[in-house]
Amino acid sequence: MPQLSSLLDRFQPSAIAQIFSHATRLRETGKELWSFSTGEPDFDTPDHIRAAAKRAIDEGDTHYTPTDGRSALKEAVQGKFQRDNDLDYSVEQIVIGMGAKPLLTNAIQAVVDQGDEVILTTPCWPSHVGMTMMAGGQPIRIETGSETGFKMSPEMLEAVITSRTRLVLLCSPSNPTGAVYSAQELEGLAAVFRKHPQIWILTDDLYEHILFDDMSFATIAQVAPDLKDRVLTVNGVSKGYAMTGWRIGYAGGPDPWIRGIQKIFSQTNGGPCSISQAAATEALNGPQDFLRDWAQVYQSRRDLALSYLGDCPGLTCAPPAGAFYLLPNCSSLLGKTTPQGQTLQDSSQLADHLLNDWGIVVVPGAGFDCGPYFRISVATSEEVIKGGLERLVKACSSLS
Ligand code: PLP
Repeated sequence: MPQLSSLLDRFQPSAIAQIFSHATRLRETGKELWSFSTGEPDFDTPDHIRAAAKRAIDEGDTHYTPTDGRSALKEAVQGKFQRDNDLDYSVEQIVIGMGAKPLLTNAIQAVVDQGDEVILTTPCWPSHVGMTMMAGGQPIRIETGSETGFKMSPEMLEAVITSRTRLVLLCSPSNPTGAVYSAQELEGLAAVFRKHPQIWILTDDLYEHILFDDMSFATIAQVAPDLKDRVLTVNGVSKGYAMTGWRIGYAGGPDPWIRGIQKIFSQTNGGPCSISQAAATEALNGPQDFLRDWAQVYQSRRDLALSYLGDCPGLTCAPPAGAFYLLPNCSSLLGKTTPQGQTLQDSSQLADHLLNDWGIVVVPGAGFDCGPYFRISVATSEEVIKGGLERLVKACSSLS
């Protein structure tokens, strides 16, 4: 048989996708499930955005667009960066991708060479690691925990920088920890970046609009304008506007980085969907007030979930400041035995036990490059949170 490429050996498949397909198979057999694994809003895309897409179809807006997106959406992104982030990008400094995920992949490829070091904190969104490895980069993990609020300090960052460091990835609010860097904390990191001019900075701001307890959003190019020429600010409509299926992400950044991404796009994509671009333009230009209302809904679900987690023997959970995930620490449950007689060695075995014996779907820490944790998404109804987490309390109590 012909050989597959060595690229495939460089990275692991997504553990989240594996859990998802296992849970889907169980659901197909008729098993009742309480799912906390989804990584997308359970809201529908608002009507005014859908109407813009319908108009685009009716007006025959069904042809190729420029591979890095059309001007109308770039102008909407430009306005968004000014309005929400005090960031001035020219339209030429903006690219539109087919979702943030492929855009991030190409953005990393544009600056990372074989063997370059890419710094990120763990627990992290595993695709940041996978994308780095596909680009030939070497992920350098700064392990964080609840004691540092799942964030790196300037000292932690400085300690891992070497002459091979090419890129630092920031993600705030974070998937899966919900950690959010304040403007002051970002200023601390900026002071380190200033000392190392060979480093690019990529910030993944996808969860910008999902913030709790009056936390305000800050992004590195905004708090350190002198670094703007080294920062790619990546965002998208998926999480904030409940538009995961529309596949539109965008970025603003310095000319050489943007030109590099455009060059890759020119050979690898046919331009983001024209109808989705019409919808995303409306999302960014239209009313923004519902974003705050949705954040309130996520916050009350977070609080509800935390109240149940507080009753789960063996679990501790730091309240997240943003995004729609909670990341309980389950280290005290490891080594315990299930009613079926299995001794749980790690969070993956715990997640399997919760799924197979209790119908509760969570994503284990292995899915996020971390140890004794599992992720719960509250992008689901109160009913599921109550029913599922009541079972979780019982499941944890039944371990001996
Ligand atoms: N960035 C983070 C941190 C995410 O969690 C996700 C999706 O889960 C993405 C990017 C992907 O966004 P998109 O749906 O626009 O590709």
